[in-house]
Amino acid sequence: MLENSLGYPPVLAAHGLYRAFGSTTALNGVDLQITLGQSLAIMGPSGSGKSTLLHALAGIELPDAGSIMLNLPGRAPVDIQGLKDKARTRLRRESFGFVFQSGLLIPELTAQENVAMALMINGVPRGTAIERAATALADLGLAGMEERRIGQLSGGQQQRVAIARAQVTGAMVVFADEPTGALDSTTGFEVLETLLECTVGAGKSLVMVTHDPNVAARCDRVVQLQDGKLISDSPQPLNTMHGGVQK
Ligand code: ADP
Ligand code: MG
Repeated sequence: MLENSLGYPPVLAAHGLYRAFGSTTALNGVDLQITLGQSLAIMGPSGSGKSTLLHALAGIELPDAGSIMLNLPGRAPVDIQGLKDKARTRLRRESFGFVFQSGLLIPELTAQENVAMALMINGVPRGTAIERAATALADLGLAGMEERRIGQLSGGQQQRVAIARAQVTGAMVVFADEPTGALDSTTGFEVLETLLECTVGAGKSLVMVTHDPNVAARCDRVVQLQDGKLISDSPQPLNTMHGGVQK
């Protein structure tokens, strides 16, 4: 296992990922290592395989070939491909957080219940979960909005609820697919800053699909996909301490 300059193995290490849908090759031999505490932007044209890659790394949809190892501090390495469905679902709930463009929040529930749900499915009792959810929401500037249903919140506020939900479980890796895609640029920028603060700011990793170069520019590292292959991998000039180019 390759190690970064701090001596830790990558939190996620993917090798030879391949995924086809019928005659379409969505991933065509992707190798990617992600360091703990790093923010990584995945860019590329529409249809280049970004979402497929994110779903593979997060154990949502397995690739046809390749391997993905998860190395969390203080835990034994896990081969995500080798897990049975139930164990993989559990791993996702406990170790990963998700912020997608929209659609992951449950409209029938309040902001607080949406966040608490992430804890309750991991076995945290309801009362404790609600308390921790309220704290997480307040941390993100949503105090007083705990009881609102999702439809009663603005787009930016909804994404903050999603961020609260992704971080309340203590998950060390957060995946985001176009998290600012449905927001105006000012709100999008604020949400992005919040997302970075809650992830890399807390020593966690952020893996984010975006088509927006301004969003990508805020990340430690940017990779480009084209036709299911990684065609470039570059650290941002200001931040090479998290490992930088890994080839
Ligand atoms: P991106 O997120 O970069 O736009 P995707 O990963 O969603 O790209 O898709 C990569 C390619 O795989 C595209 O050609 C897309 O049409 C195809 N694809 C993705 N998911 C499916 C699916 N469930 N069924 C069939 N084709 C799919
Ligand atoms: Mg996509």
